[in-house]
Amino acid sequence: MQNQEDQLKQIIAHAKEYGFIYPSSEIYDGLSATYDYGPLGVELKNLIKDYWWKSMVQMQENIVGLDAAIFMHPKTWEASGHTTAFNDPMIDNKDSKKRYRADVLIEDWAAKIEEKINKEVDKAKKRFGDDFDEEQFRSTNARVLDRQKKIDAAMDAFKTAMDADDLEAVRQLILDLDIADPVSGSRNWTDVRQFNLMFSTEMGSTAEGASKVYLRPETAQGIFVNFLNVQKTSRMKIPFGIAQIGKAFRNEIIARQFIFRMREFEQMEMQFFVRPGEELEWYEKWKENRMKWHADLGFDSDYYRFHDHVKLAHYANAAADIEFKFPFGFKELEGVHSRTDFDLKQHEEHSGKKLQYFDPELNKSYVPYVIETSIGLDRMFLAVLSASLKQEQLEDGSERVVLKLPAKLSPYQAAILPLVKKDGLPEKAREVFDELKSSFMLQYDEKDSIGKRYRRQDAIGTLLSITLDHQSLEDQTVTVRDRDSMEQSRIAISELHYHIQARLK
Ligand code: ATP
Repeated sequence: MQNQEDQLKQIIAHAKEYGFIYPSSEIYDGLSATYDYGPLGVELKNLIKDYWWKSMVQMQENIVGLDAAIFMHPKTWEASGHTTAFNDPMIDNKDSKKRYRADVLIEDWAAKIEEKINKEVDKAKKRFGDDFDEEQFRSTNARVLDRQKKIDAAMDAFKTAMDADDLEAVRQLILDLDIADPVSGSRNWTDVRQFNLMFSTEMGSTAEGASKVYLRPETAQGIFVNFLNVQKTSRMKIPFGIAQIGKAFRNEIIARQFIFRMREFEQMEMQFFVRPGEELEWYEKWKENRMKWHADLGFDSDYYRFHDHVKLAHYANAAADIEFKFPFGFKELEGVHSRTDFDLKQHEEHSGKKLQYFDPELNKSYVPYVIETSIGLDRMFLAVLSASLKQEQLEDGSERVVLKLPAKLSPYQAAILPLVKKDGLPEKAREVFDELKSSFMLQYDEKDSIGKRYRRQDAIGTLLSITLDHQSLEDQTVTVRDRDSMEQSRIAISELHYHIQARLK
């Protein structure tokens, strides 16, 4: 069993070695929390986008797409609340000079105690066997109760301090909980300060009087300000949705954990506009729908869980995260939020324009309510990569590293491999390659032994390896090896198209 840190390291190394992800501007030693996607990375990313777009737009009669600009009128961010409220409380360690999010330090402290509780529960489970009643144990065991009480008290104190904007109380809580810098172990903390997460830049030349603009911190606002444009031009009737995939930028204070938290990232968001009063029904539907989207990829259901928000943002009347079991634990992968009519109303107020829908059935106009589903493309990439990367022990005692990507997310559907680099096999293999390349993403490889080539294709997740040997020249058949089962079958070249297609389903 690998520990969590090793598992993440292995994923990062694998992603680099095979051209999925490189650190940005690496020759200058990289730029923190920004990454570049290599040849395989861009393929996988496009496949994830495609899978999302197909299910959210193509398969939904009442959802249409949008691609709004990254720059938006600065008033947008006043209306949305980002200029004043898009802050994280941060604290610096005076010894290590490292900066942390105060809320993350406290949450990590709580997670450690929770881990202890879970260990206690596991131990009891083993001791009592089938008779074990977990709920009863959690509600009666003194040690568990004591620890849970500590967590609850700390979280309550944190919430109270944040609600009152009392940053000194947040600092005091960190001291009281005896939280140390995870890097240096030091407890020498600065004050807690608020830090706005938006990047800004100047638009226009200084002579003209340049104005400050922001790089959007979320794609959602582009959808809200275009609500009426889209509704009218696409003749949409409520309920309907607008979907968008695009870049977002956040000056994250702590940006660790690879592509989980980046300063430049991509979001796949959909805002669904509904009648006031019907939003909670739609919220439940979208929660279910989005979880199903994840489940359809075929990873173990243990990887996912819902986390319902107890503390709601001021604009929401229900919210949940779909959490994924990353190598560093369960973390938010996607958010499903019932955002009420907050955003549209704010934009009405700040722009002075009406953003209302005339409902012919009700014969009245109203500002619609909104359900949002928002998933980070890069986080989804990391989820897929970490659930797919496997180290397998083979029957002959050897090991293989295989990327068991869902079939529809495999960058290459097949590799075409001549057994040897002579006797007309490369020419025959090229013929097969040329015949299939307009239908499938293929790789042609004739370098190294066939065993090595199989390993290479396994490592990048290629679904099928198609080998041409001397018999192929005589009877027009090839050997097809499946990535997951490693089973080989003999198939006629004329059947390959059908065979690959069938495997993709
Ligand atoms: P977190 O609490 O992890 O910072 P958030 O609640 O601020 O996330 P949202 O504002 O709800 O995130 O954004 C929606 C989605 O965008 C998240 O579920 C996540 O998948 C993705 N996302 C947010 N911030 C980042 C980031 N810095 N890097 C990569 N993906 C991100």
